[in-house]
Amino acid sequence: MEVLNLPLVVSLFAVVGSCLGSFANMLIHRLPQEEEIIRTPSHCPKCNAQLKVPQLIPLFSYLWQRGKCHACRKQINPRYFWVELICASLFALIGGIYGATFLAAVLCLVALCLVILTAIDLEHMIIPDEIQVALGGLGLLHVWATGKPWLIAIVLAAVGFAFGLFLRWLMVVWKKREGLGWGDIKFLAVAGLYLDWSLLAPFCFFSGMMGIFTAGLASRTEEGHFAFGPALALALLMCVLFPVFIVSGFQQIIDFIVEFSVVTINK
Ligand SMILES: [Zn+2]
Repeated sequence: MEVLNLPLVVSLFAVVGSCLGSFANMLIHRLPQEEEIIRTPSHCPKCNAQLKVPQLIPLFSYLWQRGKCHACRKQINPRYFWVELICASLFALIGGIYGATFLAAVLCLVALCLVILTAIDLEHMIIPDEIQVALGGLGLLHVWATGKPWLIAIVLAAVGFAFGLFLRWLMVVWKKREGLGWGDIKFLAVAGLYLDWSLLAPFCFFSGMMGIFTAGLASRTEEGHFAFGPALALALLMCVLFPVFIVSGFQQIIDFIVEFSVVTINK
């Protein structure tokens, strides 16, 4: 780490992030449609024109083509640009905080999976099993890299799964409909691998808060369903990247709520 200075590390991470963001875009497009991933070359989803080297440069190709396909001139989904920009920024942030370390590499791949999950869940309301498996494998590497006891990781994964089942049951009993999808329940189990006891309550609190927020924003289906994956993904990303900040922030919110209730009751 000492050999590489901070601006160099941050720039390197940003470049790698934009390239993997481009790969993420391909997965976001192909995973829900179960399209072949490895052998099919990158192509325009509208006219199937194969992309050549200049069109494969992340971020810049979108900008200098003004968001249009080089062959058919049809508008490219702006998601392609935003996903690459978000991945580049997240990678740069992780490189800046954690340096050129093994943990930073794991965290970057976790962030990448969470971006893919968010984009797919927002559009198709599913969380592909491939992403869950990848996040599970990275979760094991995260346990190993952070030196967290394996037993705690396994117990918390079980707690996450049980909590998901409980929420699902609660919504069936209370609202008489299936509220929480199996994708969300599996994700809660995987998320358990990344958390520790102090992060459990903050994770539930922030994902719940953001779930309420996205429920208000996102376009609901006719049955009143909305994608809960993005809220879970964002809460997990915050907990994994800034654990100390999240725990103390949550503590302050709880203190504020307690103080506010005491003042209100005493009036
Ligand atoms: Zn095209």
